[in-house]
Amino acid sequence: MSRKRGNGRRFNNNFSRKPSNGERSSDDPNLQESLKSNSYRTYTPLVSFAPPSAEVDDESTYYTVNLQLSPVQMGIMARNDHWQQQFKGLGAFNHYFGLLTTTANGYELCDVWDGYFHLTLVKFRTSIPPDDLECLFRSFTSHACSPAIPNLLFRGSQLAVHPGTTRKKERKKIDFVVLYIDLSPEIQEFYQAIQDLLNDIRKQAKASNWNLIPIDKLHVTIRKYSNTQIDIKAIPIKHLPIEFHCSRLEIKQTREQGLARYEKARKEGNNYQWWSGVTVIDGTCLGCRKWILSQDWAGFCLQCGKYESVKPVWSTDDIKDHLDQKLEEQGQNVETSTLNEK
Ligand SMILES: [Zn+2]
Repeated sequence: MSRKRGNGRRFNNNFSRKPSNGERSSDDPNLQESLKSNSYRTYTPLVSFAPPSAEVDDESTYYTVNLQLSPVQMGIMARNDHWQQQFKGLGAFNHYFGLLTTTANGYELCDVWDGYFHLTLVKFRTSIPPDDLECLFRSFTSHACSPAIPNLLFRGSQLAVHPGTTRKKERKKIDFVVLYIDLSPEIQEFYQAIQDLLNDIRKQAKASNWNLIPIDKLHVTIRKYSNTQIDIKAIPIKHLPIEFHCSRLEIKQTREQGLARYEKARKEGNNYQWWSGVTVIDGTCLGCRKWILSQDWAGFCLQCGKYESVKPVWSTDDIKDHLDQKLEEQGQNVETSTLNEK
């Protein structure tokens, strides 16, 4: 089935909806027992859950400095003291929430595309034109030590809804659901260590409206397109928290900015590629060349299983080459889930 998105596009999430062989389903009695009896290890508690100021609409004008998640290649882990399971491949987050929630719509909680999961550190604006900015960052090096991002473990055990009242255009009034990052000594150390690099980026980009996300508000947005109300209190995430690593740090333009640059270049007879992976152009998936109804494009192609990511303005590229190579080997046809029981 397909869900109608709040912005008029349809979000197809019926890819591999069935659990693969060996995967546990949420009615597994052992898992349910584990969820009930779990006393998972605790990290330093989150500093505060006061709602952050309303999220600024970052979909048209802002650049962001993000830690990029790669659930398709790197997977995510659901873990408590009694049980763990890795989710890897297209729809990893959907499968996780599907397992976690006994109600039918757990699987459909997430509506962020697989290539778009990230953790924002900073939002900013700049008056430097996009092409010049990208050119400027081509030779960017920071003297700040770059922390080993892929080694850092992030853990989330709390969901929150934030109103979308300040969002623009058709997304106005569509609320966000975010997954907050639990604070650990490692995250605190990382957050301190990354500040020098962020400041170097700020200078290089001649940034204005520099909006640093406070450490206790670090989050991954998992739902931002659909307006169906979901009772997040019914999702027992505390009993089976999610863990993941990030692949790299990136400076990102928005998809809208990328599209506008592409169209401008096209009119001028030039090429500009804003995406990596595949996208849909003139109604056709660039991967399999099959016809796609534009309202059905949700960041990935159901026919060839490839997906779209916005190409970064700059990236730490720590393990990018490794990932690209792995991706090539796997042809992006990765398993949807892997059982990994203790
Ligand atoms: Zn395709």
